[in-house]
Amino acid sequence: MREWNYGKNMNLFKESLVELITQTSTNLPPDVRAAMGLALEDETPHTQAAQALAIIAANIDMAQADEGPVCQDTGMPTFVVHTPVGVNQITLKKAIHAAIEEATKSGKLRPNSVDSLTGKNSGNNLGEETPVIHFEQWEEDEIEVKLVLKGGGCENKNIQYSLPCSLDHLGRADRNLEGVRKCLLHAVWQAQGQGCAPGALGVCIGSDRAHGYELAKGQLFRTLDDVNPNPVLARLEAEIMEEANTLGVGAMGFGGKVSLIGCKITAANRLPASFFVSVAYDCWAFRRLGVRLNAETGAITNWLFRDPKQQVRRMAKQEGFPLTGREVVLRPPIAEETIRNLKVGDVVLITGEVFTGRDAVHAHLMKNAPPVDLRGSVLYHCGPVVLKQDGKWVVKAAGPTTSSREEPYQADILRRYGVRAVIGKGGMGAKTLAALQECGAVYLNAIGGAAQFYARSIEEVLDVHLIEFGIPEAMWHLRVKDFAAIVTMDAHGNSLHAGVEKETGAALAALSR
Ligand code: SF4
Repeated sequence: MREWNYGKNMNLFKESLVELITQTSTNLPPDVRAAMGLALEDETPHTQAAQALAIIAANIDMAQADEGPVCQDTGMPTFVVHTPVGVNQITLKKAIHAAIEEATKSGKLRPNSVDSLTGKNSGNNLGEETPVIHFEQWEEDEIEVKLVLKGGGCENKNIQYSLPCSLDHLGRADRNLEGVRKCLLHAVWQAQGQGCAPGALGVCIGSDRAHGYELAKGQLFRTLDDVNPNPVLARLEAEIMEEANTLGVGAMGFGGKVSLIGCKITAANRLPASFFVSVAYDCWAFRRLGVRLNAETGAITNWLFRDPKQQVRRMAKQEGFPLTGREVVLRPPIAEETIRNLKVGDVVLITGEVFTGRDAVHAHLMKNAPPVDLRGSVLYHCGPVVLKQDGKWVVKAAGPTTSSREEPYQADILRRYGVRAVIGKGGMGAKTLAALQECGAVYLNAIGGAAQFYARSIEEVLDVHLIEFGIPEAMWHLRVKDFAAIVTMDAHGNSLHAGVEKETGAALAALSR
């Protein structure tokens, strides 16, 4: 057996892995760009979904041009590594850890590793079982490292079905391919805009609960345009793509023509008593790349899923947000009357001071007074990537996070502290809608994943509070200019999200056989 002499080339291995992480975080692969390009072409012009896709396209370009994270949520880094026999996987793991730490320091990854018992963020993306690394041996001479960065919003929309079961709008799903078909249509429907649609499904039919999810995630390493070698699964994939795109979820769940950009299915043997369908839902910010490394030197010999010699094509047809002149300018502190004049569908441009706050801040505010006066304020559900440069905080990526997680808290916070506008993505529920109406407040949907686009709206970090919660969870005090968002829940009891969920539910029911 060949002795693997890795130590002397440790640095080159690490550098190659940093490059893999950087490209994965900042530069979407060509198959995803192509699928999003088709989504842009297919969507009805001048709709909210078309506006969302225009921002997404601009964001993809900005991320690549400036090497900034496509989305601020760089997820749980998940590596699949194949090594020749004889390669020391322990030292390779150390190189991966060193690369993760460096990429976090330079802002290509957001510090995302939180101790589940204490809630403390490790700050460097290292911790118990993070990052996730799967090792396999193979008989080739090179090392292959594949990486997927999948954020929390879409990870939370993963779903596992145990057949037979009963599904909303579709009725009974039996232990057969028709039952699987129903589960997959349901998986797209239940995600709505919370997983930053249009999304993609990685699916495993069978296996056990734990391995089924792993195999489902593994399907995300297929390119969106490949064809399943199994003709039965190829047919099912094509059928799901066609039917799911009649549901009308649309970009960001705004309602629209494109809800799904990929469906990749595998099947594994199961126990006679179990029939699981495991679904890994990924968002439009589908970040997946890979490299082949020279096993002696650590140098990159080849890229997977991209050709670095190919020029990257621009996605956006225009710069920035498509303005119509009908946008409403909001300058915090905002008067109740201004908010009560807004209605679902209005586009606003916020200029002035906003505060970020997500899970930890919301939980904190239930028991403690806010560190700032929130009357008339704008509260942004956002966990940004922020770096300290020359003694100053600089925002590197700052898209919205999924708001539904704050549903248990939001109504109380609106009532207690006088917040006038909440920015997030994916919408909120009935309790929040009632509080918006009662208090004269509004919910604004920003475009999920558009982290570079929104970072450019942030002129300055004015202050930070509750930094002990870690960078993504702290309360950042920001000054923004022309921050664009769409009113999707107004102070009159209207919710675009509730409307789309109802309409798409009817469309789902129509696909029941
Ligand atoms: S695009 Fe949306 S779902 Fe995807 S990682 Fe970013 S915030 Fe999460």
